[in-house]
Amino acid sequence: MLTLRQVAKRFGNGTKALDGIDTEIAPGSFVALLGPSGCGKSTLLRLLSGLEAPSSGEISWGHAGKPAPGEIGYVFQDPTLLPWANAVENVFLPLRLRGVSRAAAMPRVMAALAQVGLEGFEHAKPKALSGGMRMRVSIARALVSEPALLLMDEPFAALDEFTRHKLQDDLLALWRRTGKSVIFVTHSIYEAAYLANRILIMTPRPGRIATILTPALPDGPERRGSAAYNALVSEITASFQRIMPA
Ligand code: ADP
Repeated sequence: MLTLRQVAKRFGNGTKALDGIDTEIAPGSFVALLGPSGCGKSTLLRLLSGLEAPSSGEISWGHAGKPAPGEIGYVFQDPTLLPWANAVENVFLPLRLRGVSRAAAMPRVMAALAQVGLEGFEHAKPKALSGGMRMRVSIARALVSEPALLLMDEPFAALDEFTRHKLQDDLLALWRRTGKSVIFVTHSIYEAAYLANRILIMTPRPGRIATILTPALPDGPERRGSAAYNALVSEITASFQRIMPA
């Protein structure tokens, strides 16, 4: 679906954020971009969205060409909800901005809210929702356009650990159910190991891909405590010990 060839990004102020990124992302993958803060993960995600261009190298999006608005769903660490609008209105927003009528949009809005487990909270405003539920609204807003690809930039980093585990499990279930592709930025080794079936381990800036891992952990509740998960965490930790400056 996505091919990157020698992608580099240098900003106007001279900062080289990314260099020599070479990889392919197959449809239906769950990819983690894992690396220390400042290594260019968010920059890479913006390039993959097509909203920003690389300074050199090439990104191609398969047969479809550059993605149109709505073909990619973007979720950030901050849910960025309209505070005065309830969950329905927040999820309706991207469709409303694209000129979809309320009547045509409502079944899709309700389906997106149901996909993230928010039945019964459709009319709640952000202030009445917990941090985890606000993130669920934000994910529903990304899903409402029915994108094939979800780009997620540290979406669970600000949540408490219990909520984070629940959202990780629900995201995995959603990914399995829908067959969407997910590219997920995180600086948590544990989160990358738990979620992804393809982990791109990045070096400090300028970000390059140091290693690609393609784990296959058991599905279901036994995953978090499994020997395979713990071995994967150790393997990733050892990779970072090799690439991080002492
Ligand atoms: P990460 O997501 O891994 O924390 P970022 O992609 O946000 O890293 O940033 C990578 C590097 O590029 C950082 O040093 C950051 O300060 C720099 N950077 C990001 N955006 C810009 C910009 N618009 N102009 C200049 N430098 C930038």
